Amino acid sequence: MRNLNRIVIIGAGAAGLTTAETLRRLGFQGTIMMVHAEHTLPYDRPPLSKQVLAGTWAPEKVHLRSPVALEKLALDWFHGVEATHLDVAEHCVALSDGQRLEFDAAVIAMGLTPRFLSSGHDLQGVFVLRTLEQTLALRQALVAGTRLVVVGGGFLGLEAAATAHQLGLEVDVVEPLPVCLEGPLGRAIGERVMHLQTAHGVRLHNGIGVRRLIGDQEQGHGGAVREVVLEDGSTLPADVVLVAVGAQPNVSWLEGSGLTLQNGIVCDAFCQAAPDIYAAGDVANWYHPYLQRQVRLEHRMNATEQGQAVARNILGERQPFAPVPFFWSDQFDVKIQMYGIASRGAELRIVEGALHEDRFVAAYYEEGQRLVAVLGWNSPKQLLPYRQQLLAAYTPSQETKASGVL
Ligand SMILES: Cc1cc2nc3c(=O)[nH]c(=O)nc-3n(C[C@H](O)[C@H](O)[C@H](O)COP(=O)(O)OP(=O)(O)OC[C@H]3O[C@@H](n4cnc5c(N)ncnc54)[C@H](O)[C@@H]3O)c2cc1C
Repeated sequence: MRNLNRIVIIGAGAAGLTTAETLRRLGFQGTIMMVHAEHTLPYDRPPLSKQVLAGTWAPEKVHLRSPVALEKLALDWFHGVEATHLDVAEHCVALSDGQRLEFDAAVIAMGLTPRFLSSGHDLQGVFVLRTLEQTLALRQALVAGTRLVVVGGGFLGLEAAATAHQLGLEVDVVEPLPVCLEGPLGRAIGERVMHLQTAHGVRLHNGIGVRRLIGDQEQGHGGAVREVVLEDGSTLPADVVLVAVGAQPNVSWLEGSGLTLQNGIVCDAFCQAAPDIYAAGDVANWYHPYLQRQVRLEHRMNATEQGQAVARNILGERQPFAPVPFFWSDQFDVKIQMYGIASRGAELRIVEGALHEDRFVAAYYEEGQRLVAVLGWNSPKQLLPYRQQLLAAYTPSQETKASGVL
C-alpha cells in the first residue's frame, strides 16, 4: 500500500461513501475526511422518485448505512459544509466555514444539481427532485385529485409521473423531443414506454417545450403556480409543477483549479483528474478503455463501482475502470433494466418475447453482430446471459492497457 495518511472525500452520496468503505476494507487506517454538504445521514436517490414519493417508504429507509455502520468506518465528518476551493498543487481543500483540509489524496464525488427553467421557480408549487428534502416537499404537494405538470419526459420525469398518477393526480408530461427516452433506449423502446404511460392515463405532450409558468397573482409574478404555457401558446392547468429537465455536474467551485472541466471532471482511465486527485460517480467524466472514449454516467450502479475502483487505485492497484454500464427504471408495474450503451444507429432486435407483451428482452447491435447493449422489460433473469456476453467483451485489451492514454 502507498504511504498515505490523509484522504479527503468531497460528497457523501453513494460514490463517496463507497470509496470510504472500500478504503477501510482494503486496510487503509489513516484519516478519511468526509465533506458532506447536507445535514442528513448519507442516503440513496433511486427510491426518491419511487417509494419515497409514493409514501410507501419512510424517509429513514433511504439511508445508505446505519449510524452504527458509519461509526465503524471511523471517518472525520464535515457536515453541512461545502468544498469551495481546491488547490491542486498544495493538496488542500477550502471549506465554506473557513477550514482548510490538507490531503495526500482527494476524491471528488459531488454529484449533480438540477437544471431550472429560466423563470417561475419562485412560484409556490414548483419543484425539482434531487434531494430527500425536495422529495418530501413534493410528496406533500401531491394531493389526489390535483393536477401535476411534469416538465421533461426523461427517466426522472416519467418515474415521478407514474408515481403521482398512482397517487390519484391528473398528470401531464411536456417533452420537447418527439419520442421520450429515444436517446438512451432507441425509438421503438421509447415509444413502448410512452404507450405504458398513456395506457395508464398519463397525458404526454411531445414535440413541444414550455415557454413559461404563470402564477395566480398579477401578470404571472408570484403566488402559486396556476398554468404552464407551452411554446405554441396553449396552456395546461397546474396545481403542482415538477421541473425535470436534467441536471449538471457540481463543478463550478472547481473553476480555475486547473482540473479539466468538461461535462463533469475529465479523468483518465484510472478515474484520476490530476496527481492524487480522483473523481467518482455522476460527476466523473472518465476515459472508458473498452468504449475508447470519455463517458459520464448518471447511474446508481456506476457510483458504487467507480467508488470501489477509485479506492483501489488510490491505494496503488492501478486498474483501468471499464465497467459494463447498468441502470434501471421503475414505471408503473414495469422494471426496465439496461446493460451497455446503445448508440443512435444501433440495430434493435427483440430476442425474447415481443414488444407489445408484458415481458421482453431487446438487444442492440452495431456492425451487424456486435452486441453493445441489452434491455429487459420485466425480464431480470432472461437478461443474465446477455449480460455475460457483454461482460466478456468489456475487457480492455492488452494494447489498450499499454497505450499512452492509460
Ligand atoms: C430521484 C432520482 C432517482 C434515480 N433513480 C435511479 C434509478 O432508478 N436507477 C439508476 O440507475 N439511477 C438512478 N438515479 C441516479 C443515481 O441515484 C445517481 O447516479 C447516484 O445517486 C450518484 O451518486 P453520487 O454519489 O455520484 O452523487 P450524489 O448521490 O448526488 O451525492 C453527491 C453528494 O455530494 C454533495 N455535494 C455537492 N456539492 C458539494 C460540495 N461542494 N461540497 C461537499 N459536498 C457536496 C451533495 O449534497 C450530495 O450529498 C436516480 C437519481 C435521482 C435523483
